[in-house]
Amino acid sequence: MGSGRLILVPTPIGNLEDITLRAVRVLREADAVVAEDTRVSGRLLQHLGIKKPMHSFHTANEHRTVDALVERMQQGHALALVSDAGTPGISDPGFLLVRACIQAEIPVECLPGPTAFVPALVMSGLPCERFLFEGFLPQKKGRRTRLEALREEPRTIVLYESPHRLLKLLGELIEVLGPERIASVSRELSKLHEETVRGTLSELQAHFTERPPKGEFVVCIGGA
Ligand code: SAM
Repeated sequence: MGSGRLILVPTPIGNLEDITLRAVRVLREADAVVAEDTRVSGRLLQHLGIKKPMHSFHTANEHRTVDALVERMQQGHALALVSDAGTPGISDPGFLLVRACIQAEIPVECLPGPTAFVPALVMSGLPCERFLFEGFLPQKKGRRTRLEALREEPRTIVLYESPHRLLKLLGELIEVLGPERIASVSRELSKLHEETVRGTLSELQAHFTERPPKGEFVVCIGGA
């Protein structure tokens, strides 16, 4: 591909048709693909008929891998960064590498593409002109403090949550924001069992108590 640079390439969050033509071209032309999980991204590349050298870049190794990747780009390699799903850097590794590239004056591009919070926010029916993306709350230390800080937030709040913590999260949100706060829960976006449930926090809690949460979730909460 020529001159050294970093290109962040969003990949599907479920439906493989959501990869863009440009993403496919960039993956095909890159000198190597830097992936959160080389097996997951290897399957996507195989599906696209692309064979590329791959490097791994995940939360456990990102601090010690950044310098070697920067060096490669300084040697003229164009590296495509992908995560397991969606846009790298959004609740996924990416930020450290972007920052290191900027510091080293290596060009950075991010292709527009799939990410879970945008369709969830738009389909929530809550105001989406201004919003706060919180991603995952801390699992233990600091979780309550972050929740409390959201109490007076006037903008729509967007959270990511795993299926086994969804009911815990809804319970905590009821405690902190009250049972009547309007919210929405989107799951399995772009997949066969995609669903968005809207209502008060207590209605959502009742819904998912009856139907145990399965899949991946985005929670949107109306502002104060
Ligand atoms: N980089 C991704 C993005 O751009 O959205 C986010 C990666 S983060 C590790 C994974 C979380 O994103 C999941 O726990 C879930 O909250 C959300 N997510 C990813 N795919 C989803 C989908 N198809 N439906 C609903 N939520 C999804």
